[in-house]
Amino acid sequence: MIDRRTLIAAASAALAAPVLGQALAYRLTPHTVGDGIWLIRGADAPIARDNGGAIANITLIATDAGPVLIDAGPSLRYGEALQALAKTLTGKPVERVYLTHLHPDHSYGDAAFAPAIVAATPGLIATLTRDGPGFADGMYRLLGDWMRGTELRIPGHVVSSPQEVVGGRTFRMLPLSGHSADDLAILDEATGTLVAGDLVFHDRAPSTPHADLPTWRRSLDTLKGLGHRTLIPGHGPFDPTPNAAIDQTRDWIDWLDAALRRAVTDGLDMVEAGDLPIPPRFATLAAARYELQRSVAHFYPTLERTLLPRVDAR
Ligand SMILES: [Zn+2]
Repeated sequence: MIDRRTLIAAASAALAAPVLGQALAYRLTPHTVGDGIWLIRGADAPIARDNGGAIANITLIATDAGPVLIDAGPSLRYGEALQALAKTLTGKPVERVYLTHLHPDHSYGDAAFAPAIVAATPGLIATLTRDGPGFADGMYRLLGDWMRGTELRIPGHVVSSPQEVVGGRTFRMLPLSGHSADDLAILDEATGTLVAGDLVFHDRAPSTPHADLPTWRRSLDTLKGLGHRTLIPGHGPFDPTPNAAIDQTRDWIDWLDAALRRAVTDGLDMVEAGDLPIPPRFATLAAARYELQRSVAHFYPTLERTLLPRVDAR
């Protein structure tokens, strides 16, 4: 759990770092999770000075034409580190970068790549064009010097067909939504590895700043029916099974939805709702209290309007 004071103090420290001559560097550790597939794990924590915003999982997949990245991390500096790692692992420069959704911990590292090789759905491209600059301000405030030089690139490759073939490797494109308005999941056909983006969290509480929970449920149903073998979540450890992480994400969303509705009708205020007991079965989820409190902020005003209409509007 990180509070506002710690965060702002940390951001100030980040701004001071160059004065102290301390070079900021991401240390990326690739884990092999399939044939020609590496997972670079994000920290299972909120965005903070000590992780440089590197909290999202990044996937790197080898192809004959060069490696494919799925998501690009939070900053130019991170994207450059990914470039170097991709070259080391495969001997080739990055051929394609797919962005799964708008959140800056996944997308801003695209600053290190030529827009022509950065790919996204039409909906995501429109959203990044409209909202990208606002997210940049927030990330610079939180992360200070980690973000220096980072300017989001608008993807130049439009994902518009159900599959894309890169260097002989076939990827099924699954444009969905629910975690955000435009979520892209990608299935590597050769290995049956599903790269789920933030539609699936694993042992890390789901975040909901742009979530629509009924839509998210439908997308999880779609993912469960794919017949994939293993799953890389947007946050948290690799799932060597098809559905454990999907089921866990679903369980959290269902509990959250019901708990917040009950809190509103029981007359709890937002602070009390943020203190609700979290069921013991979620004890393995990192950042659970933090995400519950954020979700209260995201959903409570709308739930109150819906569940507690004015007496003269009933
Ligand atoms: Zn996200």
